[in-house]
Order: sequence, then structure tokens, then C-alpha cells
Amino acid sequence: MLTHNLGYPRIGSKRQLKKASEAYWAGKSTLRELQETGANIREENWKIQQEAGIDLIPSNDFSFYDQVLDMSFTVGAIPERYHEIVTDQKKPELDLYFAMARGYQKNGLDIIAMEMTKWFDTNYHYIVPEFKKNQPFKLFSTKILDEFKEAKRQGIITKPVILGPVSYLLLGKEKEKGFKRIELIKNLVPVYLDILKKLEESNATWVQLDEPFLAMDLDQEEKEAFEYTYKTIRKACPNLKILLTTYFGGLDENLDLACELPVCGLHLDLVRAPKQLEKTLDKLPQNLSLSLGLVDGRNIWKNDFKASLELLELAKGKKSENRLLIASSCSLLHSPCDLEEEKSGSGLTAEIQQWLAFAKQKVGEIASLKQLALDSGLPENQQLLEENQKAIQSKKTSSIIHKQEVGQAVSSLTPGHSTRNKPFGERRKLQTPNLNLPLFPTTTIGSFPQTKEVRQWRALKKKGKLTQNQYDELIKSETEMAIRWQEGIGLDVLVHGEFERNDMVEYFGEQLEGFVFTQNGWVQSYGSRCVKPPIIYGDVSRPEPMTVGWTSFAQSLTEKNVKGMLTGPVTILQWSFVRNDQPRSTTCQQIALAIREEVADLEKEGIKIIQIDEPALREGLPLRQSDWEAYLDWAVECFRISASVVEDKTQIHTHMCYSEFNDIIKHIAGMDADVITIECSRSQMELLDAFAEFQYPNEIGPGVYDIHSPRIPSKEEMVELLEKAKSVLPEEQLWVNPDCGLKTRGWKETEPALERMVQAAKALRKTT
Ligand code: GLN
Ligand code: ZN
Repeated sequence: MLTHNLGYPRIGSKRQLKKASEAYWAGKSTLRELQETGANIREENWKIQQEAGIDLIPSNDFSFYDQVLDMSFTVGAIPERYHEIVTDQKKPELDLYFAMARGYQKNGLDIIAMEMTKWFDTNYHYIVPEFKKNQPFKLFSTKILDEFKEAKRQGIITKPVILGPVSYLLLGKEKEKGFKRIELIKNLVPVYLDILKKLEESNATWVQLDEPFLAMDLDQEEKEAFEYTYKTIRKACPNLKILLTTYFGGLDENLDLACELPVCGLHLDLVRAPKQLEKTLDKLPQNLSLSLGLVDGRNIWKNDFKASLELLELAKGKKSENRLLIASSCSLLHSPCDLEEEKSGSGLTAEIQQWLAFAKQKVGEIASLKQLALDSGLPENQQLLEENQKAIQSKKTSSIIHKQEVGQAVSSLTPGHSTRNKPFGERRKLQTPNLNLPLFPTTTIGSFPQTKEVRQWRALKKKGKLTQNQYDELIKSETEMAIRWQEGIGLDVLVHGEFERNDMVEYFGEQLEGFVFTQNGWVQSYGSRCVKPPIIYGDVSRPEPMTVGWTSFAQSLTEKNVKGMLTGPVTILQWSFVRNDQPRSTTCQQIALAIREEVADLEKEGIKIIQIDEPALREGLPLRQSDWEAYLDWAVECFRISASVVEDKTQIHTHMCYSEFNDIIKHIAGMDADVITIECSRSQMELLDAFAEFQYPNEIGPGVYDIHSPRIPSKEEMVELLEKAKSVLPEEQLWVNPDCGLKTRGWKETEPALERMVQAAKALRKTT
């Protein structure tokens, strides 16, 4: 029986990678320093797993930005617009790699970044590969091989982790018409063969090929691509042990397909889909190894050894031990690094800490499960199991989890709680005179740059070096500055800037009951951006108003309308580590009721526009379409519960980013927000087509510039995008705004960008 791990977090337990990349991008450190940081993180990760007793330790799970971009780089899928950047096209330079991820405005060049979108149902974002008809591929970067050799020099024969060719293609996008990207499989597989052969020559034994699409709906052509790919690989590299991994869902109707592929092992996510184990055991050929994904890579709860051992026993009944592997359910990329970093206390009480496991602890759990599976009778193993069960029981019976009032409020919800009084058409008649806005009203999504100073104030407050009062005064001055500046450039609907917020979920979680926080539980969101998801451990309620003070302060400074800014219930749920003892929908309803109270309080204070952000609504979609309806029903309902408390003349906004809307447009419309702002610019307004086709009735603000890149858009390009929007939707329906909040940007680029955006809206008003 072997243990393995699908991938380890690569940001470093102290977010070293973030700091090093940002310093490099800012020109404050050398490439060499960045590369050293990368090497140190890899070495540390390998050591941790080696010491834990993991048999197959992953390599190539490290990335300077994203594993999908790494694959594009590896197979030479470099879009043409980047070809000018480096003089030597033969060398895979990190600057070119970062240009693809972040755009490039240097040396007289101005090149936009590649699109970014969410990795399945997670809050991790990957860089979307761009494909053209007959696209050729070639081995461009040797990263996979280099990292394998690097570990080998340190005495570890790793299991390289490679995104499988079928999933790689399916994650991408066709950049011209007239072909389907899956058709490129025959061009692509030879590059994989090249890599695999080189690994084979370097004495690799196991190689992990990730094919998460096996847990999704596949059409005939895609299924054939799987067969073609794995047959070809088998033929070319008969000595390599290919471990095919699936995660985030069950194999279901793809089970037969997966079991017939000529690989050495198949990995199942038994946290998300435990029921697939029995069927798989019946189907899987005897000579194929089965990897049991028992330790949850997506959540922070301690593994219940007893429950895992039951699955293990089931597997042992039908398969010989030496064909079984014990593993994490998916890559631990989605887990924080190390619970030990939390030692110094605060919110995470000892009671709660004993219920948790982060990446480092999880690899320990994988090893423990093997120990228990091999001989549960040994005294030390008995003790291991007992201690584990004590923690599991303590959570089941703890008094801090259930609150009677919360349970009652949820069970007394009626349809009335989730409907506005009048339909949109009539609400609009009341909102127009209430708000007094021009055509193409301009606004922003909420946050303004969180400068070094702002973050420093927060850090100083945390350390006790600033009093609450001093901190509040500083934030007030920043807010006032932002209000004055917005008035100055002529924005129509203002925001307070969210300077008081560390993060759009954490800020609310800190004030809600039922949440706890880590100090160091960082998880990569995209590139160097990390988030620290709150942990929802118990029933959620709102003891006090959370945003009213800051919003009314900002409103008191100006005649213009200031939007109230809230994070929606689905997003709070989606971006937190959630309870595993009740359905997600119940937790979401509890959050919705808390947000509803906040909405009511903002309205009472005279706020006329309230935005409830739901950028995570789409990422919560189950992997298989047959499960979508059930999810969307409760998710949309929860949004409506939080919004529907207001009078009709109050305008409710929502915001979503990095979403595609075609297939859920009915439900988006069902949210019945008066205004929705969406990410649109990287897709050149393509996203709007869905709204146009549906004849979406409410108002829309399609983002006119990409905020994830430091690039400053020109007024003309924004006008052009708006013209495009105007050609598909009636102008009375349109708002003008950036793609998303600006907190990750600096003022240096934000100021000119927004000034130009206002100018673009004005130019449009003139032509109509
Ligand atoms: N209001 C939030 C902000 O502006 C929205 C962020 C998001 O959609 N991710 O930062
Ligand atoms: Zn957004």
C-alpha cells in the first residue's frame, strides 16, 4: 500500500512566493532571488512530505503563477501577441511567462494579459489557454523535467504532477472560429510523449496525470480523445506508471471509460463522491491500482479516521493491498499550509484547533491512515485512532455550534422573504426620481487601492500600536480623500472605498457569529494573490451592524449617492471553509438572514443604493449539469432573501466577475437585482451576448476595463467596448464601470484609468 499526495500548497507557509514575486515585478529584486525563493519552497515542501512518510511525493506542483499557464508554457502555446517580448524566442523566459499572466506595458509594447477564470468549483483562478485552428505545439519549457531532477538531487524520486492533455485542451478557449479545441489532441499528445519519455529516461516511476474532466459531462469526441491519448501514452512509455487522477466529483457515467483506459492507477475523490467507491471496485480491472482520495483537500476539518477506514476496508475486501494507494482527495493547493503556524492563539481556540488539519497535518493524516490500515491492533495505532475519535466526538457534541434562534429563523422563512414588492419595471419608475442619474451612469465596484499605508495601519492596529480610534481616523481620512476624488473626476455613484476591509469575506466573517479566523491560513487565489478564508464552524448570526457606520460616514460627505457595499451570502459561503455537519444550503440561508438585517439597516440610514456582491455564485455550480438546478435554486433564493427586505425605490445592485452567463442567465435574471455589474473586458464584451439574447430586463454594467492587470486602458478602447455594448443592449439599461474592485491596484494606474472611463461615458452621452 502506498501513500501519495496530489499536490502541496506552493505559496510557502509564510507566503514567501507572494512576497518574492511582487518584489520582482516591482523591480525591487532580481530574477535570481525569485528563483531561489521558488527552489526553497519546493525543497521545504518535499521535506515536509518526506518526513510525514508520504511514499509518492509530488513535483511540478510548484508554479510561479499557475499550473495551467505552466502547461501552456511547457507545450509552447504562446499566443502570438507575446512573441515580440523576448528577443530570443527559443528561451522560455520568466518575463514572457509573467507577461502572459499579467499583461505587458514596457519597452514601447502594450500587450493585454490572457484571460483568467475559475478552476472548477474553487476560488483558484487559472490562465485560460488560447487555441487556434491547427495550432502546433512543441516542447518549450522543461520545467517538469527540471523539477523532477531537482528533487532527485535531493534524494527524492518524485511523482511529477502534470495536467492531462484532454483536460488541458478542455480548459482552454478557441480564439478563432471553425474548429473545436479537442481536435488539437493529435498535435498535443506528441509533446506529452516527449516529456514522458524524458521522465522515463530519468528514472521516473509514477507520473500523475490530472484529468478532472473525467468527473464532468463529456461528449463522444472528448471520450474518444481520452481513449486515443492514454493508448498512445501507454504504447510510447510502457514502463511509466501513469496514475490518472480525477477530483471534485464522481466518475459516474464516465466510470466505464475511466476503467478501460490503459493506465496503471486511477484516483477517486472519495470526499466529494464516496459512493463511487463500490461501483469502481466492481468495474476496475484487477491489475489497475486504485488511489483512494480520503483526506479532504478542499476543507480544513480533521479527517475522521473511522469513516476513512471503513472505506479502506471496503476497498481491501475487493482489491489486494499492494494495489491500493491512500491520498488526499485533490491537490492540497486549496488548503492552508500549516496549523502549527496558528499556535499563538487568538480566535482559534484550543477547542476549535483540535478539529482542524491544514496541508502539513493532512499529509500526516494520509500516512496515519496507512499505518492504521496495515495494523490497527498495535498499541500506538490504537492510541492514534482513539485521539482522532476524541476530537471528532468533541466537535459533534460541542455547545458552541448550535443556536436555537438561528434554527428557528431559518425554518420560518416564507416566499415573502425572497420577493420584492413590485416587479422591476415598476421599481424602476420609483428609483429613477429617487436617484437622479444620467444616461450611462458611471460607478466602480467598491474597493479602491489598498495602499501600503492602509495595510500598514491595519497591521499596526493588530499589533496594538494604533488604537481603534487612531485607526478609524486614518481610515476616515482615506475615505474622505476617495470621496473627494470621485466627486472631482465626475463619477455618478460613489463608493466609500472599502479601506476598512482586509478582505470582502473576512471583514463580514469577523463580525458575524459562527465564524473563526486563522492568522496564517492563506490559500492561493490567483498569481500572487492569496486569501484567508474564514472557517464557519457554527450557526451564523449578526450581533451588530457591520457596515452602516462607514457607509453613512461616506454618505455624509457628499450630495452624490454612495453605494452600500455588502458581500452576498453565496459568496461568503463559497469563500469560507464550511461546516461539514449540515448542508451548504442551510449555512447559506443563515448567512442570507444576517445580510438581510444589514441591508435593512443601511436603508434605514438613508442609503439609496445597496450592492450585494455575488462574484462566487457561478463557481459554486456543481461539476455536472444535472446538479445545477438544485444548487441554483437555493443560491438565488439566498441572494433574494438578503435583498428583498428593501422598499421598491431602493436600488439593489449585484456584482459578479469572471463568469460566463449563457447557461445560467435565467437564474441570474431570477436574482432580480435592479443592476448587475459584470466582468466583461477581457472577453471583449462577449459575455453581454447572453444578456442580449435573453432580453435581460434589468440594468447592466459591463466592465470596460481589466483591473487584474496594471495596464491603463485608453479612453478610445473603452468607448469602443461601450459602443459594442450599446449595439446589443438598449442604452437606458447600461452602466459604465470597471470589471471589478480596485483594491489590488495602485492609485497611479487607477486615477488615469477611471478618469478616462468617465470621459468615455461622457463621450457616449454626446453621441446619443
Ligand atoms: N466590492 C468588492 C470590491 O470592489 C467586489 C470584489 C469582487 O467582486 N471580487 O473589491
Ligand atoms: Zn469582481
